[in-house]
Formats: sequence, structure tokens, C-alpha cells
Amino acid sequence: LVQRAEKQDTQAIQALDSAHFIHPFTDHGDLATRGARVITHADGIYVWDSEGNKILDGMSGLWCVNAGYGRKELADAAYQQLMTLPFYNSFFQTTNVPAVQLAAKLAALAPKVGDRSFNHVFFSSSGSESNDTNVRMARRYWDLLGQSQRKVIISRHNAYHGSTMAGASLGGMSGMHAQGDLPIPNITHIDQPYYFENARGGESKADFGLRAARWLEEKILEIGPEKVAAFIAEPVQGAGGVIIPPETYWPEIQRIVDQYGILLICDEVICAFGRLGHWFAYEKFGIKPDLVTFAKGVTSGYIPLGGVMVGNRVAEVLIDKGGEFNHGYTYSGHPVACAVGLANLNLMERENLPGRVRTETGPYLATQFEALKDHPLVGDAETCGFVAGLVLVKDKANKQMFDPDRAVGMICRGHCFRNGLIMRAVGDRMIIAPPLSMTVAQIDEMMGLIRRCLDATL
Ligand code: PLP
Repeated sequence: LVQRAEKQDTQAIQALDSAHFIHPFTDHGDLATRGARVITHADGIYVWDSEGNKILDGMSGLWCVNAGYGRKELADAAYQQLMTLPFYNSFFQTTNVPAVQLAAKLAALAPKVGDRSFNHVFFSSSGSESNDTNVRMARRYWDLLGQSQRKVIISRHNAYHGSTMAGASLGGMSGMHAQGDLPIPNITHIDQPYYFENARGGESKADFGLRAARWLEEKILEIGPEKVAAFIAEPVQGAGGVIIPPETYWPEIQRIVDQYGILLICDEVICAFGRLGHWFAYEKFGIKPDLVTFAKGVTSGYIPLGGVMVGNRVAEVLIDKGGEFNHGYTYSGHPVACAVGLANLNLMERENLPGRVRTETGPYLATQFEALKDHPLVGDAETCGFVAGLVLVKDKANKQMFDPDRAVGMICRGHCFRNGLIMRAVGDRMIIAPPLSMTVAQIDEMMGLIRRCLDATL
């Protein structure tokens, strides 16, 4: 595949691109002057651009190509299903074989925690849609229980939960809220558990974790527990900059949601399917969620698919109390997407990708990131499975950040770009989430590139 790919006429594609294509999260003024980078093909952990540059993809596309690129069996699964049944809907007492098989596979992979089990799946095509489903499903649950006043969903500042009206409202990105009159009613936010930035002088990680979790309790009491429907959070915040909570955080969150009886929604669009070394990240943290959002890694990004794992607490009410849930998408349970999902999960299981991240490549990545702390620019560096983040600082001893106007993260990202590495900048945090198929030798190669880019940023 790689050899066969031909160099493309970059300028012609860029001209068409800027004439016709409105990109997500892009300043088009910038695009018109610099032109988009045209990615033409990919294999393993690398992508190539139209100029023939080979680039190590430290972000798995957009946190999704968990199995790596060039997996023929996923293409074969799509082809076979396209030829057998390319589409049929799953509305109105209809179903299809790949959707049923994938739902059963997901239920088998989702571990039981405490009194929570996950035997049901609702399918969508993306993480955003799935979080819209969560908002509707959580409110429907309380309606069915005769507690319609429970409408408020609490989320966290700087969270990312998608780009639809509900997804962006659940998200805590001020830039997104500023465009489009968001959040929608009955969604509110607490602060994120970001130790480096939010801890008090001398406060231990454990104490900070407890204090950060209690912001949820304060918010519930401020609103009135009888009005709160759910709390939503990522086990590890991804797009917010790989914010890994202290160990005390999740147990205290669990204590709080249990005490007030509110639903707990884990958004695992990034964290599931081996990214943190488990099929589902709630297992790693011992969280007992009621609803779990998934997307991205379920198909390794080869085709759009998302959904919600519906725990027994909600499923029993939704199904047993019955009545029609007036909600669904044309592509819910799309046969081709589900066939690819199934092939992807089988491949990941056969190659033990979550297990490798948990016991081999993840711990190795962790030691390599720990070693980066000796770099003069690195104020902190941490990993959790196959997500990692480091913070660029002006003065390590005093934890002094750079002036935001210097945009040092963007400067570092520029060096990555020129050195053949995709690493993302979130403010002055540099983050990675590489394909789970990455070998130890490839981790070494990536770390060499990261160091070179940090040196160039100095
Ligand atoms: N939730 C989380 C945690 C995400 O990271 C994302 C996307 O990055 C989404 C939801 C939205 O998913 P999608 O872009 O598939 O709509």
C-alpha cells in the first residue's frame, strides 16, 4: 500500500480544499494562507502526507486508531458486509446480525462492577450523538420513576463531550459555549481535578483529589439533590489536556453519587478499548457507572460508530417500565459499522492490545515519560496507559508558566510537525495517545522525536 501511493499535487488539492471544504475546529483565514496538510495514506503507526513525508502518528488520528493503520481484516469485514447488507434500519421491531453480535460482544467485554452490569447497548454514529442520547436517557429514566424534576446534569469545566448542542453544553469549553448560546438549560459545571494547576501550596495529591471530588457535592447541595439527574465525566480527561485525577478522586465521586442517588455517566469515548489498558476504563478506577459513552476505538476509527453501554439500573427501568423511548438515529446499529466494530474487537482481543498496554508497553511508556522530567522545559509529565501529557514551563523550580501570548505549546507543536511527529498542544500541555499496536522500539523512536522537539523549543 505504502509503495503504491503516489505523490499528489499538493497545491491543487489545497486550492480545492480552501475553496469548498469547511473544516471542524479550524481558522479558515489561516488555512487559506498556509494550506492544509494533505494526508494521503497510512500504515501501522505512520501516516504520509502529499509531499511524501512519513509522520509518526502520536495521536492515533484523533485518539481512535487503536489497532493501528492498514488492518486488512477490517477492510474485508466492511467489504463483505457491504455486499451482504449495506444498510437496514433498526427501528420498528427490526434488527440485523452484525448489530446484535456487536452488542453481545460489548456486553461480554464490559466487566461487572459491584451491583452494576452492562448487558445492553444503544448504538449511534459518534461520541457527540451518544452523549445526546445520555442526556435524553438520563432524563427519561427519572421521568419513568416519577421524578421529572431531576433534570440537571453536572459536568466539568474544560471537559470535551462533543460538538452537538447537548455534547458541547456538557463539555466545559468556554470557547465553544461562547458560540451558539450554550450551554442549553439544566447543564452546569464544576472544576476539573488538575493537580498541577489547581492544588494549593503543599497540598498532597490525595488531599487535592478529595477536595476536587467534593466540588461535586457542593454543587449538588447548591442545586438541590432532588433536581440532579446525573454527573458526567471522563475517567481521564483527554481533549482537556490528559488530566489524570489523583487516586482518591474517583472513590470519593462514587461515594457522592451513591449518597445522593444520582446517575453516573462515564464518557469513555477516548478511555475505552484498551487506551488505559482495559476494555473499559471504569474497571481500572473501580467506578460503578450507570451509562458509559463509547465511540472512536470501537472500530479503531475505520468507520463511524458510537454508542452507550446501558447499565442494569437504567436498562431495567427503560425496558421494564416500557413505553416507547422516542429517540434514535438512522444509523443506529448500522450493519457495516457494526461488522467492522466486531472485526476490530476480535483483532484487539487476539493481539491482546489492552493487556499489552496494561502490563508491557504502557508501563514502558510511563518510565520514558518520567525520564522527560529532567528536561528544562518539562514542569510535569505523566501517563495513564497509552495517554500521556507533559506541561511546558518557564521556570521549573517555581512552577512558573510561560506568558500565554508566547503560545509555547504551538511552537513545540510546530517543531513536532517539522520533525515528523504528531503531538497535540492544549495550551502549554503537550499530549499524545499513540496506536496501541506500538512496539517498545517504536516508543523509543517516538521519545527520541519528542526530546528533539523539546530541545528545539528551548
Ligand atoms: N467525548 C469525548 C470524551 C471525546 O473525546 C469526544 C471526541 O473527541 C467526544 C465525546 C465526541 O465524539 P465525536 O467527535 O465522535 O462526536
